[in-house]
Amino acid sequence: MNKTVKRIVIILVILILLPAAFLTINEIISLDDNEEVIERIYANQLDAILYSVNQYSDDVVNSWASKIDLFLDETSKFNSSDASSLIDSFYNQMPSLYAVFVADSINDEKIELLAWDASERYIQVHYSEFNEKIQNLLSQNQILVNRLFNYKQTGYRKLEPIVSDLVGDESILMFIEETPSGSNRIVGLVIDPKEFTYRILSPKLQDVAQQEFLVSVFNTEENYQFNSSKDFRVQEVQQAKDLWIFPEYQLGISLVGQTIEDLVQQRAITNILLIGLLTIVLILGVWIVYRNIKKEVELAQIKSEFVSNVSHELRTPLSLISMFSETLEMDRVKTEEKKKEYYSIISNEANRLSKIVNSILNFSKMEAGKRQFNYVDSYLNDVVENVYRSYKFHLEQKGFTLEIQKDESIPIIKIDEEAVSEALVNLIDNAVKYSDDKKEITIRSGKANNFAFVEVEDKGIGIPENDQKKIFEKFFRVSSGNVHNVKGSGLGLSIVKHTIDAHKGEIRLSSKLGKGSKFTLMLPLGKS
Ligand code: ADP
Repeated sequence: MNKTVKRIVIILVILILLPAAFLTINEIISLDDNEEVIERIYANQLDAILYSVNQYSDDVVNSWASKIDLFLDETSKFNSSDASSLIDSFYNQMPSLYAVFVADSINDEKIELLAWDASERYIQVHYSEFNEKIQNLLSQNQILVNRLFNYKQTGYRKLEPIVSDLVGDESILMFIEETPSGSNRIVGLVIDPKEFTYRILSPKLQDVAQQEFLVSVFNTEENYQFNSSKDFRVQEVQQAKDLWIFPEYQLGISLVGQTIEDLVQQRAITNILLIGLLTIVLILGVWIVYRNIKKEVELAQIKSEFVSNVSHELRTPLSLISMFSETLEMDRVKTEEKKKEYYSIISNEANRLSKIVNSILNFSKMEAGKRQFNYVDSYLNDVVENVYRSYKFHLEQKGFTLEIQKDESIPIIKIDEEAVSEALVNLIDNAVKYSDDKKEITIRSGKANNFAFVEVEDKGIGIPENDQKKIFEKFFRVSSGNVHNVKGSGLGLSIVKHTIDAHKGEIRLSSKLGKGSKFTLMLPLGKS
């Protein structure tokens, strides 16, 4: 690799690829940590949602306790007829409340029981049974009740759930109530948790769940589950918390559709894919930059070689011309024959000079897009014949055999005769320049498909396979083999290609190293 290109590669690697690789590796390493953090954040969020449900149910039962507190203050006697209508009205406001009991103390012998509707009669009939059950409950939960009394003394009315089998599935919430006379009483709310969930919690569950979550109240012992989506299937929840007011029940939450792990994993996969894509784009970008720079560097090099080649090409004929003309001027040449020979050398070299200058001029016109072609109806064979005639003698002098094979059936085609002649001369010049011992050149014309063609074949040094495409690029010269014995500008074939392209034709090349080359110029038969 060239020194400049090497330096550029090193700069690209240090400036772009190394930091990018570092970032990518760092990103992939931290992906795991990120996953954990995200998972934790999700879990906290789910916790917060469950907390809000707990808070809400706590608020509801607390507001009930306040109402009952007020009610008990207002009605000293439960059995009066005023009281019974009041009871009905507040029970309507507190669905799922099954009954309320009031005990003056833990050892109260006759506990007051409030109930309504169907349960009213049931409780009346079974009063003594309930009375005993509640007494037992109180004595079993003495510590808890005392704690409630203590709270009350500090001015805080606390609601505490207790587990009981008082009536079926009901749960009991107890708190301490202060009578207007200043004494404290124990109040118990007997609530049906399922009814509470259905009547009170259901809208709240739907509200917090939205479309994204499934929030449930469940009881694993009874295989009971109430879901926010009104879907009563029992299913596993991703995260669960105790329901504060009903210790036998729990709150659960799941993501609808995907689990947190799924989400996090999906995110991780997306991230890795993005990083991968970015890396590929980056490498591609660096590769493109590298290719462009390499090309530019090569072109710059080739251009400088071109300058030295052209200078050499100009100097050789110039020095020959000046040498022979000086000799003639000083009258050093004695015989007429020698003089003639020198004159012809001078004119040949002058020709060569003008050819070089012409090709440079043509090339610069072509580069500037200013080269114009003058298409006229022509016989390709005539053009070929003319070139053959003007070269035959000259080449034979140099020891070449120049053969011509014409296909007489080629019709008239529209070409720029001068440009095509020039292209042909370029090919013949190359055939001469790049021939070794086997000095045989054939010019052939013909027809193939929709093309008329003219080709120049030599038995020269041939062109390596790798370079066969490149030789048509400007300034390009094959760098291997003994080509460097021959001077050239690397312009000839690029001019030929330009001419043939302008004619909407094609150039074909078949060449074998050491065996020779054949260049075929294909010109469209239709009107160009
Ligand atoms: P140059 O002035 O170097 O001849 P060209 O554009 O005419 O420039 O040719 C480009 C290169 O293609 C040459 O340098 C030579 O290496 C190779 N080349 C062209 N014609 C032939 C041929 N007939 N045989 C072998 N090599 C050839």
